[in-house]
Amino acid sequence: MKPILPPAMLGILGGGQLGSMFTVAAKTMGYRVTVLDPDPNAPAARFADCHLCAPFDDAVALKTLAQCAAVTTEFENVHAQSMRDLAQHTRVSPSGDCVAIAQNRIAEKAWIRKAGLPTAPYQTVERIGDIDEGTAQYLPGILKTATLGYDGKGQIRVRTVAEVQAAFEQHGGVACVLEKMVDLRAEISVIVCRLDSRHTATYDPAENRHDNGILSYSTVPARLPETVQRQARQMAVRLADALDYVGVLAVEMFVVGDAQDLVVNEIAPRPHNSGHHTIDACAASQFQQQVRLMCGLPPADTRLLSPCTMANILGDLWGGNGGEPHWEAVQQHPSAHLHLYGKTAARNGRKMGHFTVLADTADQAYAAAQQLHAQLD
Ligand code: ADP
Ligand code: MG
Repeated sequence: MKPILPPAMLGILGGGQLGSMFTVAAKTMGYRVTVLDPDPNAPAARFADCHLCAPFDDAVALKTLAQCAAVTTEFENVHAQSMRDLAQHTRVSPSGDCVAIAQNRIAEKAWIRKAGLPTAPYQTVERIGDIDEGTAQYLPGILKTATLGYDGKGQIRVRTVAEVQAAFEQHGGVACVLEKMVDLRAEISVIVCRLDSRHTATYDPAENRHDNGILSYSTVPARLPETVQRQARQMAVRLADALDYVGVLAVEMFVVGDAQDLVVNEIAPRPHNSGHHTIDACAASQFQQQVRLMCGLPPADTRLLSPCTMANILGDLWGGNGGEPHWEAVQQHPSAHLHLYGKTAARNGRKMGHFTVLADTADQAYAAAQQLHAQLD
């Protein structure tokens, strides 16, 4: 297929921080951008040529989006069907089918296994009767709702069969996955950029630290053996191939036990929070890749140019009376890159921005990021 070139109009479903960074990348490359997002203060609206302020399934807005040369998305929830409908009229990536798989843990885990890759041991719990003698083998575990979970939401830790039953009720009886707790030594993610089987690239795995279920730091290169990192990249590509994926795909993995075995946790059909360092520390950013791939262009160089750590900035750092975090130290630092998303309301746990700090080694970058983060408070 012929590549889409500037100044074509590109469309995106969702105008949060991911949509915003996508829009900046696309505009920089000479494209025009239409964003669909119901929030009048959507971060991407700061940069887009056109902001369709309407619900994601709004027929009139989708008709306008369908006139774009290509359409992509910034998140997996709500609108797989909108993606499928749009695909009748224009180029859509990733496909609505891939988005639908990523938005349901049951489908997602089945696909991971179908691709021949390991997951943590799990069983699906769709009704109370699914909890039986066999359930004990997945304990202690985590009961996760099949849909709509993010940043650790929709998860309850369980130790006994009775607790699984109680947790299922607490989730309101919706379909769930019961996952056995694994002996986590590290969490990593690999971002795959795939146009087709001959044009695929991966970034170096990021080593992720979470606090309270939310990503707090991503450090690259991961402090793990080269063999583990190579295997992680191969596994991520294998998954993207199995999905015949087009676009940017993030694959979260657990590093388990003394043997440092890799198991796939979950996937995101879009650029990922753990890939924000690619803006400042890689040859091409994950958002440039999203633009290129949706336009039918091959992935650009994913090379890491410097060890780095990305730190998330959550709304918790804003004082109750509208006080801003203390930006002085991070802004003074010559190797720190601050990104603020332009969100108007700061809430606890809300991602307001991030910074990436570059250093000579991953250890130094991580130490510097922790120090700079502490100085925001
Ligand atoms: P979310 O959609 O909220 O990101 P995840 O499935 O990635 O949900 O779980 C959030 C975090 O909980 C993970 O990053 C990991 O730290 C922890 N976790 C999830 N599943 C397991 C597991 N099976 N064993 C150990 N820790 C887990
Ligand atoms: Mg996760």
